[in-house]
Amino acid sequence: MAKNSKTFDEFYSLKKNKICSIDEVINYSELHNGNIQPYDKDMYCPECKQAQLTFVHETSKRCAYLRTIPSSNHESGCSFNYEYASNKTIKTIVDSMTNDEINDRLNSIMNMLCKDISSTIQPSNYEATKSKNPMLIQCNTGNVIKSKAIPRKSLNGGVDHNENIYAYYGKKVKLKVVEKHKISDDSIFYLLEIRTKNTKGEWNLKATIYRYMTHLIKQDIDIINVK
Ligand SMILES: [Zn+2]
Repeated sequence: MAKNSKTFDEFYSLKKNKICSIDEVINYSELHNGNIQPYDKDMYCPECKQAQLTFVHETSKRCAYLRTIPSSNHESGCSFNYEYASNKTIKTIVDSMTNDEINDRLNSIMNMLCKDISSTIQPSNYEATKSKNPMLIQCNTGNVIKSKAIPRKSLNGGVDHNENIYAYYGKKVKLKVVEKHKISDDSIFYLLEIRTKNTKGEWNLKATIYRYMTHLIKQDIDIINVK
């Protein structure tokens, strides 16, 4: 995918100095006949905060989205500059990592995507940290090692029901382990439910996850990031 065809679920607002969801723009647009004036020229890449984004209205074929303005560039270490890694590449790399390495990487990704705005990297020192960008993986393509990006998806938007691999993240997300009974023999198993809060304050079910090997054990989980 070419760098400028990537889409964004959220953006950095310079005026508010925080990461905002595209839902804010969609709501404003619906209430103002498609006008998004307060957001115009105030939507930047949520990762590097440098590239300017533009809002593309919903059509009958697809939902509204944000994309990079073609004349605007991302910081050199921003993962949105890089091609997305394929499912196969991500699987190969994850298989080669130890459990500790996987946990460290997931923690870094979570810190980056669910970050508090006050602790985000400022563009001035972004360059120094680009080699540590947790959204980038190094792929060996023949003789050349190439950086590729791990695709990301906000749970507050939609869940991809195809088998694509994403780093899923979200704000206003609730996780819950739920008990189920098999129809065949009434035996108990457990699923993980993911709910997100919509703009009306309702908790909508986004996905129910079957976790292979742990579905027979009731696992207590921390409810995190509920705001
Ligand atoms: Zn960027």
